Amino acid sequence: MDPQAALHLPSRDPYGETVRRRLYIGAVVCGMALLLFGVVMQRTLNLPEPYLQYVAPSLLGLSALNLWWLLSGRALIVAEVASVVVLAAASMAHIVLVSLGAAALPGAYPNSGPYWAVISVCVLAFLALPPRRATPFNLTYLSFCLLLPWLLPTTYAASSASGLVRVQLNALLVFLLVWGLSWFRTQYASQTQSQELLRRMAFTDALTGLPNRHAVYPAVEALLRDAAQGQAGSLFLIDLDHFKRINDRHGHGVGDEVLVAAAQVLRNCATEKGSPPPTVGRWGGEEFIVVMPGTPPERAGVRAERLLAEFRAWNWPQHLGVTASIGSSSVRVGEDFSGLLARADAALYAAKSSGRDRAVVRGEAELEESALC
Ligand code: GH3
Ligand code: MG
Ligand code: MG
Repeated sequence: MDPQAALHLPSRDPYGETVRRRLYIGAVVCGMALLLFGVVMQRTLNLPEPYLQYVAPSLLGLSALNLWWLLSGRALIVAEVASVVVLAAASMAHIVLVSLGAAALPGAYPNSGPYWAVISVCVLAFLALPPRRATPFNLTYLSFCLLLPWLLPTTYAASSASGLVRVQLNALLVFLLVWGLSWFRTQYASQTQSQELLRRMAFTDALTGLPNRHAVYPAVEALLRDAAQGQAGSLFLIDLDHFKRINDRHGHGVGDEVLVAAAQVLRNCATEKGSPPPTVGRWGGEEFIVVMPGTPPERAGVRAERLLAEFRAWNWPQHLGVTASIGSSSVRVGEDFSGLLARADAALYAAKSSGRDRAVVRGEAELEESALC
């Protein structure tokens, strides 16, 4: 099983597809508004701007198509990759148009517009593509865009050539900065992910997926704190009966399956309507713990009985008959961690020695004690 899924880790995509789709829709709408404004201005003022004249209208059409794709809920990755490719092509067309015009217009460079578009495409590629694809794509694309004006059959005036070099150096600098930020973001994200994975592993039992002993301690401490404020609380120590026999007769594999099933029984039936949610954990070996805030001894007795019945009725691996013994203790004011656990342990021992498949419930006072079977 994928360890990510087993530990219920958040997906590797921290922003989620819905949020990203909304962001793209917003960006496409803003981009279309800007393009439309540029096209209208060009037409109204009759500007000698070939990009707005020839490239922007087709870009508007493609953006409308992209917007329809995104709004109709189709695959986001297709829209992302298509946007990168179309914008990259548009920015190259922009460079070609400005460079070819540079011979006629000596002041065409420094026109930094095309290179800002190039940087925007690089940023989009870093955001949309996985890092191992974005980096080679951006390096190839940027190198090509830097070389492109020098490969065209155009002779630049000296002022245009130096302007072009300056614009290109600026673009390179901004690209390196964006690259650095993207690298840092990737490192940070993977570090956070590994830390989260390690944290979950430290607090989760690998076999059953239940919280382990470390993870249960805070719940027991909270129970003791609540007791100081007069609130009831109980805990169960649950031990599978004659578990060693299962291992010996059917092998450790079946033993493991039984432990996983026992964890499922506890998850299913430890919760009680109207009571705060319990904490179910693996205490060690074939022993489990259930911490039940807000549960007085009488309720603990009823819950223990229900649990035992569930164990008896469960469809166990290999049609085994598996039972459990439960030791229950309820918190006393001023009691510490070890006192509460020692009483549950003693109750469990009493349940075992009086025949197994039963619960012994220790109340708040020493004399309040009952055995259920
Ligand atoms: P009792 O009714 O008195 O509790 O008897 P028991 O056989 O259940 O208890 P015992 O302490 O004698 O044996 C517990 C066994 O649980 C011994 C150990 O090998 C086994 N065990 C502990 N952890 C695991 C585990 O993760 N997987 C498997 N398959 N067995 C385990
Ligand atoms: Mg045991
Ligand atoms: Mg046992």
